[in-house]
Amino acid sequence: MRVRFAPAPTGFLHVGGARTALFNWLLARQSGGTFVLRIEDTDRARSSEAMTDAILSGLEWLGIDWDEGPLFQSDRVGEHTAAGRRLLAAGLAYRDFSTPDELARDRANIAALAGEATRAARRRAEALAPGEAEERAEAGEPHAVRFLVPEGSTDWEDAVHGRMRFRNRDIDDLVILRADGSPTYNLAVVCDDAHARIDMVLRGDDHLSNTPKQILLARALGFPVPRFGHVPLILGRDGKRLSKRHGATDIAEYRRDILPEAMVNFLALLGWSPGDDREVMELDEIVRRFSLKRILRKGSVFDADKLAWLNGRHLSRMDLARLGSLVKAQLPQAPDATIKDRPGWYEGLLDLLRTRARSLDALARNVSLYLPGEIAYEPAAVRKHWKRRAQVGEYLDALRRRLEGCEWHPEPLERALRDLAEELEVGAGRLIHPLRVALTGQAVSPGIFDVLYYLGRDLSLDRIGRALETVAAEEADPAQGDQAAAAPGGR
Ligand code: GLU
Repeated sequence: MRVRFAPAPTGFLHVGGARTALFNWLLARQSGGTFVLRIEDTDRARSSEAMTDAILSGLEWLGIDWDEGPLFQSDRVGEHTAAGRRLLAAGLAYRDFSTPDELARDRANIAALAGEATRAARRRAEALAPGEAEERAEAGEPHAVRFLVPEGSTDWEDAVHGRMRFRNRDIDDLVILRADGSPTYNLAVVCDDAHARIDMVLRGDDHLSNTPKQILLARALGFPVPRFGHVPLILGRDGKRLSKRHGATDIAEYRRDILPEAMVNFLALLGWSPGDDREVMELDEIVRRFSLKRILRKGSVFDADKLAWLNGRHLSRMDLARLGSLVKAQLPQAPDATIKDRPGWYEGLLDLLRTRARSLDALARNVSLYLPGEIAYEPAAVRKHWKRRAQVGEYLDALRRRLEGCEWHPEPLERALRDLAEELEVGAGRLIHPLRVALTGQAVSPGIFDVLYYLGRDLSLDRIGRALETVAAEEADPAQGDQAAAAPGGR
C-alpha cells in the first residue's frame, strides 16, 4: 500500500491535517506499505518555508515518519504543464478565450441555467471557426485550458462512505492550465499521485468534490486510478467545523501541555473507533487495530476535556525516565543539583505528582515547587487555612521545633506531627492544612508527609520559617488584610 500526506504549506499543521497524516501513516505501517510526504507548494504567494518547517516538525513531534519525501510539488510543474498539453493535443481539453466579463456573467447565470453554466465556456469554444483557437493561441492571445468533462457519470467505491456517484453534467469543465500557463491543483495532484504510484488516497471530506474530477483526469491521462476514502470533518462542540473559535487548531500549540502519544491516541479516536470501549492505547496497539472499515461516517467532535484526560492517563503510565526529560525541559531552573544530592529523588517525585496531572506544563510547575525558589501563596488557600493567624503561627512554630529533630522520612515525620497534635489536643488537620499552605502555597497537594519528604529538611524548615514571618507581619498590621496572599513566600 502506497499512501501519502499532501499538505499545502500555507498554514501550520492543523489538527485535521495531523489526523489525515496519522490515518495514512497507520495504513502504511500496518500493511508494511510506504508513506509518502508531498508538500503542495504551487501557490507560491501563500506558501512559505517556515510553514513547511512547521509541518515537518509537527509530524516529527507526533512520531509520524515518512518513507519518501518530502517531495515538493513545485519541482514538477514542467510535468504538470506537459500533461495539460497532452490532453489538449488529444482533444480531451480545449482552449478557453472567455473574457473576465463573460466568466462573471456565466457565474451570475448559473442558477437560471440549472447547472448548464458550467458548459458555457465549452459552448463559446465550440462556436469558434475551425483552426481559430490555434491561430489566436499562436498570436499570443491569453487563454486558459479547460478539461472536457465527458458525458455520463463518475463513481467510485469510497473506503469510508461506500458507493459514490457524481453526474458528470454537474462537474465543471475545470481549468487545468491558467492563462499564465500554470497548472491547477487538480491536475498537479493527479500527476503527482500517479508519479508516486499512490494506490490509496485517504483525505478529508472537504475534498469529496475534487475526487470525480481527479478520477476523470487520471483516466484521460491514462494513469491508474487510486482508491479513495474521505474522512468526515472534525467539528467543534457546537457542531460547526472546527476552527480557532473553538480553541487551538495548530498542533504546535499543544506541545507544552500534551504528550505526543496522548495526541496521537486522541487523533486516532477522532473519526475512528476500535470497536470496543478501549480508549487509552499505545501506538503499537493503534497500528495493529486501525482499520478503514471502522472509520466513522459522521463528523467527530473535538473534545478538549477528553484530550486532557487521555493525556493524564498517558502521563501516569509512561516511562519515568522519558517523562523526566520532558519535564526537565520545561522547568524554570534545572533540578540537577537537587537530583544529584538524592538518587531516585526526581523519579520518585515525578511518580508522586503525575497521578493527578493532566498537563505536562502543570506537572512541571508542580515539580518546580519542590526545588529551591520562591513560592506564591494562593489567596484562596490563605483565606481558608491561615484565617486565625495567631493560632496558625503558634502551631507552625511548634511544628518547626518538633520536625527539626526528626529523621527525614515520611513515617517518622508523620509520627512527630501526630504526637504534637495529640499534645495540643487538636485534630491533625489543624496542623496539616496550614503546613500545606506554608510548604506549597496551595490548598491541595499530595500527602503532606510525602511533601515534606520530597522538599527535604532544609527547604521545608525554611518555608515554615518564611510562613511564620508572613503571618506574624500580618498579625501586627491587620490592616494589610490578605497581603500574604499576594506576597511571594518561601525560599
Ligand atoms: N494539498 C491539499 C490540502 O492541503 C491536499 C490534497 C490531497 O490530499 O489530495 O488540502
